[in-house]
Amino acid sequence: MASDLAVLDSAFDHQQQVLKNLARPASRSLGVYNAGLSADAVQKKYGVAHIAKLASNENPLGASPQVVAALEADARFSAIYSDASSAALRDALAADTGVAAQNIVIGNGSEDILHMLALAFLNPGDRVVTLIPSFGLHEIFPRMMGADVTMVGVNARQEFDIAAWETALSTPAKMVIFSNPSNPVGCMLNREGFARIINAAPADCVLVIDEAYFEYCENDTDYPDSLRMLAEQSRPWIVLRTFSKAYGLAGLRVGYGLASHPELVNLLDRVRTPFNINRSAQVAAIAALQDKQHVRDSIALVTTQRKSMAGELAALGFNVASSHANFLFFNCGRPSIELAQRLLTYGVIIKPWREIGYENWVRVSVGIEKDNRQFIDSLKRILTGGEA
Ligand SMILES: *Cc1c(COP(=O)(O)O)cnc(C)c1O
Repeated sequence: MASDLAVLDSAFDHQQQVLKNLARPASRSLGVYNAGLSADAVQKKYGVAHIAKLASNENPLGASPQVVAALEADARFSAIYSDASSAALRDALAADTGVAAQNIVIGNGSEDILHMLALAFLNPGDRVVTLIPSFGLHEIFPRMMGADVTMVGVNARQEFDIAAWETALSTPAKMVIFSNPSNPVGCMLNREGFARIINAAPADCVLVIDEAYFEYCENDTDYPDSLRMLAEQSRPWIVLRTFSKAYGLAGLRVGYGLASHPELVNLLDRVRTPFNINRSAQVAAIAALQDKQHVRDSIALVTTQRKSMAGELAALGFNVASSHANFLFFNCGRPSIELAQRLLTYGVIIKPWREIGYENWVRVSVGIEKDNRQFIDSLKRILTGGEA
């Protein structure tokens, strides 16, 4: 019985203190990643018929049917360990990207690669430069290692502040991390801005370019061809991409890194867990790469819906950042936590921002038209004081 096993209150408190004392100071004080709510949990709690899940930038079209078929065919091999080197997937990515397989690392989501980078490179006191507002893990994983993190803000127009980046990069740093386009703002560095930042970065740092949303910029002629531009540099770099967004595989967890040198992949191989990519993820990612039409359809949907959603939000008087990704970031003019809470009662999940200075901003993913409609209509009712 649970009660027989329960520790005495005083022993319980004592143990908590012992654990805190044993923990590394950097772990003890770490912020917790805000992973968002599940549709099931919200549906159970609020009893709303349909949930519009617009908080995690998932692909509203789901995975390609070819992925589903590949997963079904592989399910019977579930007793067999996955390939620890993800060789077939790395070969498929090499063919897709033109980067040699020995320069490619696979992660259990690209978050796993951010984790490996922190473990492989960062010592307490090392300096890391990243963006604010930020993808939480760009800050949390470096802090986990005890690194000092410099956060460079966006400018008043919610664009990359290139001059501020040049200043921040004029002093030594071990690692530089930013996403392009950025999450949560959605702003994009163009070729010139990207060139200025990489040229300003210290020559002996690791440059981490997180391109989780690059597929949404592929038709944008200003979007930097980072692989080509970085190839002209002598410093180490890695470009991170993921199957979680445009490919619609967020639940399977698979991301990849395209690295400047095989030695960078070797170093990450030392710190990753050996079977970090399960077999379903490997099989699904290979199948997903073969269905480019699904990716194009996903991008087309986002482009159209993002435009109309941004228009509706602007018409309601909100300051909406210009987005190059599958989400919108806007100032809702009140504590975003409160708005997010109200929207839950209408079955709409969005992501309230919590970083200092952004407590009135929310990030909403671009979904299918019906879900976006549910979001906009609910928002209008909240603004006019309506109840769910
Ligand atoms: C969504 C996202 C990722 C991808 O995470 P996965 O672990 O691959 O699901 C990485 N970086 C940024 C900036 C993101 O928004």
